[in-house]
Amino acid sequence: MSASLRLVPSQRLSEGAGVTVHRTLGTPTLRTLDPFLMLDHFNSTNPGDYIAGFPDHPHRGFVTFTYLLEGHMLHRDSMGHEGDLVTGGAQWMKAARGVIHSEMPQQTQGRMSGFQLWINLPAREKMSDPEYREILPGEIPVIRHENAEIRLLAGSWAGQEGALTDPLTHLLYADITLSPQGSLSLPSRLFAGRSAFLYGIEGSLRVSKTEIPPETLAVLSSPNSPATLEIPLSSGSLPAHFILVSGRPIGEPVVAYGPFVMNTREEIERAIDDYRNNRFV
Ligand code: FE
Repeated sequence: MSASLRLVPSQRLSEGAGVTVHRTLGTPTLRTLDPFLMLDHFNSTNPGDYIAGFPDHPHRGFVTFTYLLEGHMLHRDSMGHEGDLVTGGAQWMKAARGVIHSEMPQQTQGRMSGFQLWINLPAREKMSDPEYREILPGEIPVIRHENAEIRLLAGSWAGQEGALTDPLTHLLYADITLSPQGSLSLPSRLFAGRSAFLYGIEGSLRVSKTEIPPETLAVLSSPNSPATLEIPLSSGSLPAHFILVSGRPIGEPVVAYGPFVMNTREEIERAIDDYRNNRFV
């Protein structure tokens, strides 16, 4: 499979009120990986890169999944939820027909690092009621292999259930650290009929013989790729830290306009009109 391994280096962008993010999925290099629409990685010790945060903004038609590796953010939304996102915690928000929310840093110094992943919803769910779920750090099961530690945020792994189950896309979301000179074989069932990728955070990681540099996404499986056998991962002289994500493709048209992701142009126009006329909440 190494011949077909696709690497997507991140692009540095400014999001929200001026937060520096490293984007891989959702760029011209990789527009989407059905059902995934966007992956932003933020990681900085410079408050100027994160302090402005994400003031009130809308979403419609998909799920946002935020995972904080380090830092403290406060979430407030139009459903009336207020939630602290702290180091090691996560937040799953099904925006569906519409949510307006803010995500603001609660720190003025130190490192802020984490991910935001956008996961598409099938057409029948796009105008359903919004939902919000906070995942506390202690709720995330940790699976220890001989030379790997796996924090299972969503999905199942070797019979173990993660903190979150998503019946719509069968999301698997794992934070994995391989010890130095470690190895781990990813089972083929994580990829059969799925889209799957990993993203290098720190250290040197290899997929088969291909080196995955930090801040780079590697597509392991896409909706049209042939059945994949087990995928061997290994680390070098330093621990390798990365996330692994997989999900079942939806297979429907995607029309996206900023924070609105629908199936047709008309639905996007309606989303813009609904937002302008305060019909989101
Ligand atoms: Fe948002």
